[in-house]
Amino acid sequence: MIHSVLRGTFDQWLAELAEGAGAEYICGIPVEELVKDGSGSVVGIRAGDDAITAHVVIDCEGVNSLLAERCLGVARPKPSEMAVGVKEVFELTEAQVEDRFLVQRGEGAAMLFVGDCTHGVVGGGFMYTNRDSVSLGLVATISELEESDTTIYQALADFKEHPAVAPIIRGASMVEHSGHMVSEGGFSMVPRYCFDGCLLAGDTAMLCMNLGYQVRGMDFAIASGRFAAEAACDAIDAGDVSATGMASYMAKLEDSFVMKGLETFKTWPRTMEGWESMFADYPGMAAEVFEAMFAVNGVPQRHLKDRIAPIVRKHGIFKLLKEMRGALKAL
Ligand SMILES: Cc1cc2nc3c(=O)[nH]c(=O)nc-3n(C[C@H](O)[C@H](O)[C@H](O)COP(=O)(O)OP(=O)(O)OC[C@H]3O[C@@H](n4cnc5c(N)ncnc54)[C@H](O)[C@@H]3O)c2cc1C
Repeated sequence: MIHSVLRGTFDQWLAELAEGAGAEYICGIPVEELVKDGSGSVVGIRAGDDAITAHVVIDCEGVNSLLAERCLGVARPKPSEMAVGVKEVFELTEAQVEDRFLVQRGEGAAMLFVGDCTHGVVGGGFMYTNRDSVSLGLVATISELEESDTTIYQALADFKEHPAVAPIIRGASMVEHSGHMVSEGGFSMVPRYCFDGCLLAGDTAMLCMNLGYQVRGMDFAIASGRFAAEAACDAIDAGDVSATGMASYMAKLEDSFVMKGLETFKTWPRTMEGWESMFADYPGMAAEVFEAMFAVNGVPQRHLKDRIAPIVRKHGIFKLLKEMRGALKAL
């Protein structure tokens, strides 16, 4: 069974569990600096005039990791390795969710879109139900957006007008709007994540996978956070919080589903990046094929292959086969 979560609710619940287990949760205060001692080892954080010392700092500031860049020298990712995601949540009643998605009570639906939704830019659209709302949005590669004549906000406005989307959100009020980056480079983007006194986890360590049909990073963030905490506790107990003393973090991560998963799909980001026809060409081709199959237009009906072959040929059958083979190999 597949579940969807609303991060606002889920994160609150998880934070309460952590507090119940003894953690202290300080919200709404941005950390400005990772404080280091004379030897360059991280010994705490500074937020405004306040400083907190720590044996080990686990930096999980997310994908836009400015602290890691500024204080640890982690390189800023290239725009071609990053996507921007925008999401809106629309409020519906439970009955409206059931009626508009044709689902039973307690069940939901998820849909993916490719093609027009991003104006042909590498990326895609998504729409999924929550108990009493629907989330929808777009993800598109930043470098591609820069080169195109569209913006992600214009594409989102158009997406909401699309006949497959507009009736679902008709009359519903938007209760949440958010923007967030997604790292797309996968395995090759993972930076050094083990420093003297400091470990990087989650998106800060670029532990995220965009397979086109699935973005995955929440479970990687949870698992890496746990491995980092275990390694930090062991290192503190052993009295050595240097990068070498915390190397068990690397061992745990590399031996886990996180790194193994990223490594399995390490060639996919390149394949997706160069596969413009998948986003600009093939969705239109699929529409033409359906038009040819179902149009009733007074023209004598020909065999299906005679209707479909010219359409596929127009887009290049060998190109299509080659690209499909490449994609299947990388996926
Ligand atoms: C559109 C979109 C769809 C996605 N869909 C999925 C999905 O279906 N499944 C999935 O598994 N993953 C998905 N992801 C990826 C997932 O959201 C991330 O991989 C995951 O949230 C990473 O968790 P994190 O804790 O490392 O970072 P985040 O969740 O980004 O948390 C980082 C936190 O640090 C805070 N912060 C940043 N800087 C500072 C600072 N200086 N001081 C204090 N706090 C700071 C931020 O405000 C934020 O709260 C999606 C991402 C996007 C953008």
